Amino acid sequence: MSSRPVSAPRHGTITSPGRRLFLKAAGATAFAGAIGVTPYTGSTAHATDGSTSDVIVIGAGYAGGTAARELAAQGLKVTVLEARSRIGGRVWTHTFAGQRIELGGGWVSPDHHLVASEMRRYGLTNVGDVVPVTSVMPATNGFQAMNPVDANAHLGTLFEQFYEGSREYFPRPSDPLYRADLLERIDQLSFTDRIAQLSMPDLDKKWLAGYFTAYTGNENSLRAMTSMAQWWALGGWTMEGWEKQTAYKPAAGMTALLQNMLATPGITLMLSSPVTAVADTSSGVQVQLVSGEVLKAGAVVVATPVNVWKTIRFSPGLPSAHIDATTEGVGVALSTKIWMQLSGSVDAVYAQGTEDSPLPLMIPQQELSGGGRLMIGFAGSSLDVADKAAVQAAVRTYIPGATIVSYYAQQWGADRYSRGGWGLRRPTQLLRQLPALKQPYGRLVFAGSDIASGWNGAFIEGAVETGLHAAQQVAELV
Ligand SMILES: Cc1cc2nc3c(=O)[nH]c(=O)nc-3n(C[C@H](O)[C@H](O)[C@H](O)COP(=O)(O)OP(=O)(O)OC[C@H]3O[C@@H](n4cnc5c(N)ncnc54)[C@H](O)[C@@H]3O)c2cc1C
Repeated sequence: MSSRPVSAPRHGTITSPGRRLFLKAAGATAFAGAIGVTPYTGSTAHATDGSTSDVIVIGAGYAGGTAARELAAQGLKVTVLEARSRIGGRVWTHTFAGQRIELGGGWVSPDHHLVASEMRRYGLTNVGDVVPVTSVMPATNGFQAMNPVDANAHLGTLFEQFYEGSREYFPRPSDPLYRADLLERIDQLSFTDRIAQLSMPDLDKKWLAGYFTAYTGNENSLRAMTSMAQWWALGGWTMEGWEKQTAYKPAAGMTALLQNMLATPGITLMLSSPVTAVADTSSGVQVQLVSGEVLKAGAVVVATPVNVWKTIRFSPGLPSAHIDATTEGVGVALSTKIWMQLSGSVDAVYAQGTEDSPLPLMIPQQELSGGGRLMIGFAGSSLDVADKAAVQAAVRTYIPGATIVSYYAQQWGADRYSRGGWGLRRPTQLLRQLPALKQPYGRLVFAGSDIASGWNGAFIEGAVETGLHAAQQVAELV
């Protein structure tokens, strides 16, 4: 799919192998300058063919950055190989309509304790996000405007029914397999299956299906309800905990924490360095780049999205659970975040669509000083994001008369180094795959929010958790 950049800056492009950068955070520096975040500096580090590190980390997202920071802090020589010309992966701080925006992950919750602790470590803080004044919710015919407090209170009662039983099957929310014995049946359920089990009015089912479709990327029948049941448990089984997930943003932008982590002495970051092959040999691990160059290390942290593992040649081949996970996919295929600049005086309207809405979710952002307001939308499968008239019509479903000045759609499913957006497990993946994915495989260990135990898939908290875990596992290997 192609995105329709209107007035936003162009996306970064993948530098050809011949122009690959061997810089410490070079891309991050350039980008940070563009968004007004203080860039970190570091000496330029040149890697030569066959260079050896204690550890190679593949992927400079939050999982890779956390693992690299931990290992470098232990005095190990760490090389981070990042395919893109920037750090962050599925977090991408950018500029649009003169404002700093997030094309990927954007919110953090106070319940994300690891992220909160990391932010304190680097002196970073959060700010509250815009609070909606109106919620537009599905009605029997069309949509209805509601007081957001009333709308959320009702949604909360629906969630209580949908997630009923989660206190028993997820009694320790960060340890989802603690009562694996109770999960056999529930782990097989999709969102559609679970909604069908509930006895409630059709309109309430419409609310639930519409809510979940924004998260499943229009795949309510293909994604496991236990994924979000675990988030419900992690938020304390309350609507208040649930709402906190999108209530706060890092004041310096979502990438700032990662920039600090990767500035740790002992880390050499190589941008524009896609890895094509990883061979675990008797003399260590050899990692081949797209240029053909081979780097060596005592251990490797594979911190790419699960959906990307299938594009890397592993020798020996990956275990069956890993192959199944990357073949089936964990990252949601339709994960298109749209930033829109609306003209005129627009209230802070939150809108939730139905399962077949072109725009199943719209979240209000700040008013602009020159007039107008920013909005975030998440596309449904029926929306052609290259068609401005279609995007505008989708917004007008919720705000009649709204006019789009410009918009920018980031399609994570079409991104070659993500091959999907946030992670959301499929039915049976929890029991069938998660335990194996967390184990070292020879001198390889795996990290990434897609395989987190706690805030799995859609949270940098999960990426940080697995980065910390991977560093512990590596410490036993080198
Ligand atoms: C639209 C969207 C909204 C989201 N909203 C939120 C939110 O509000 N809050 C929140 O906490 N989380 C959110 N998330 C989820 C969050 O962004 C991710 O869970 C998290 O960033 C994943 O981190 P990671 O390190 O596991 O993976 P990634 O960030 O994907 O990092 C993996 C890295 O590996 C690199 N890579 C891939 N292939 C190769 C290769 N062959 N060689 C070298 N490098 C490679 C990639 O370029 C990437 O930099 C959102 C995600 C999306 C897409």
